[in-house]
Amino acid sequence: MSRLEKVLIVDADTCTGCSVCELVCSMAKHGEYNPRKSYIRVLRNREMSVDIVALDTRCDFCNQCVDWCLPRAIWFVDPAEAAVIRKQHTIGTFPAPRLAEVRTDD
Ligand code: SF4
Ligand code: SF4
Repeated sequence: MSRLEKVLIVDADTCTGCSVCELVCSMAKHGEYNPRKSYIRVLRNREMSVDIVALDTRCDFCNQCVDWCLPRAIWFVDPAEAAVIRKQHTIGTFPAPRLAEVRTDD
């Protein structure tokens, strides 16, 4: 599957920063609840009280994090739809930043 086939969209106003998506991904891909091994990461800026969801390039778009996000704050779209969302600058809704790779050895 191409890396560009899907883009994760984040509704930052809806995301609660609960980290369930991180736990679900680490369990699905590494068999343990360990956010450090997740391919989806919730980056917290405590000073600005904001949570930014970012996606590792090793994500295989299995959709499990999306299925378990109870507030429905994240979903995948195709690249064309992501471009429209980016252009519209919908407040609080944006394509997730991509992380090159996260460490999984600890
Ligand atoms: S994207 Fe969903 S599951 Fe992940 S931290 Fe935000 S609300 Fe929680
Ligand atoms: S879609 Fe990607 S980030 Fe989400 S659980 Fe699957 S591999 Fe992890």
